[in-house]
Amino acid sequence: MVKATFYKSVMPGKLWEVCFDYFYPINIMEKQLDIIPLSDWIPKGSSPLVISGPCSAESYTQVMDVARKLAAIPQVRVFRAGLWKPRTRPSAFEGVGEVGLQWLKDVQQETGLLTAVEVARPEHVEACLKNNVDILWLGARTVVNPFSVQELSEVLKGVDIPVMVKNPLNPDISLWLGALERLNQAGIRKLAAIHRGFYYYRHALYRNQPMWEIPIELQRQIPDLPVICDPSHICGRRDLLLQVSQKALDLEMAGLMIESHIDPDHALTDANQQITPFDLETLLGSLIVRQTTGNKEFETKLEMLRREIDKMDAELLDILSRRMKIVDEIGQYKKENNITILQIRRWSDIIFDRLNLGSRIGLDREFLLQMLQLVHEESIRRQEGIMSPGEIVNPEMEKLQEEKDSLL
Ligand code: PEP
Ligand code: MN
Repeated sequence: MVKATFYKSVMPGKLWEVCFDYFYPINIMEKQLDIIPLSDWIPKGSSPLVISGPCSAESYTQVMDVARKLAAIPQVRVFRAGLWKPRTRPSAFEGVGEVGLQWLKDVQQETGLLTAVEVARPEHVEACLKNNVDILWLGARTVVNPFSVQELSEVLKGVDIPVMVKNPLNPDISLWLGALERLNQAGIRKLAAIHRGFYYYRHALYRNQPMWEIPIELQRQIPDLPVICDPSHICGRRDLLLQVSQKALDLEMAGLMIESHIDPDHALTDANQQITPFDLETLLGSLIVRQTTGNKEFETKLEMLRREIDKMDAELLDILSRRMKIVDEIGQYKKENNITILQIRRWSDIIFDRLNLGSRIGLDREFLLQMLQLVHEESIRRQEGIMSPGEIVNPEMEKLQEEKDSLL
């Protein structure tokens, strides 16, 4: 397990405040999912793939107007529209339902765009299949519930349709993986993941925290799986869309799903985050699409620099291991002299000293704080083991071992 400290700040008068810690499992092994590459199921798709359309289909004219404008943007290949909207309160607009399927048929016919719809119930899947929707997706509220995902997987058995799976609301990579596995086991091979950020209980810059390390880990575990970023639901506001979209591309994500509306301010759902097709075109035009590999000269130089990093990492690990040996020696010494493990004064001194040193040599303060805390926690854990041998186990290492065993 890796512990990622999501947000820390140094407060005047306080050493720091830890606002949110979360854990996500890192599986050493890659997962084997049987996946058909994106380029095989999105004919004529550009790279990155762009999916756009309204949060919700509201009326025939609204759908057709926005679809026609999107079809004129070369990068847009897929038209999205929510027909059944999962709403927090029952009084809110819950989508137009099945009637919208006919509108989407007209979008297909008139514009040639592929259509994508969110499905949450088996009846939604059946209605979409009957009406030739091209792509389905599972929303964040559905992916949190394995019963729902299982039900949807059952109705999709034997059906050849692409399915995209949004991350669950909470930062749980296993739930996300589990949903992808259930669909894959049901025979869905045209699979993609959509990264739409994660719920956070405090007010923050983003509507949903990106927690980029989670989709990165998903990509590492399933390298064949296309991951599409949904900046609209991450940002919840228009002014951040460009920077989040650029970051997604720089992290090698396969595409973007961005909500667009003919009159965003008056949209019935997610009004703050939708943009006009015109603004979408401007946004797409401002993105820098970088290569994932370079020419021979570039690759040679990169290889050389990476070798230096490898060497330094080995040195870092060696220093860490030597540091931990001294930590053990101190633990033994404290034990013999019946002294507590933690001396808060010493810990404060370490932080102030290392932060000063770090800032002089160009290390980021937040990064350094996280690193110091991690090293300190490990030092305490080791000394606890020395004080009370046999009692202290490392639950993270145990869990990791269990996960590795279950994969063998
Ligand atoms: C949506 O795409 O409009 C939607 C409801 O998204 P999410 O499931 O990510 O909240
Ligand atoms: Mn939406």
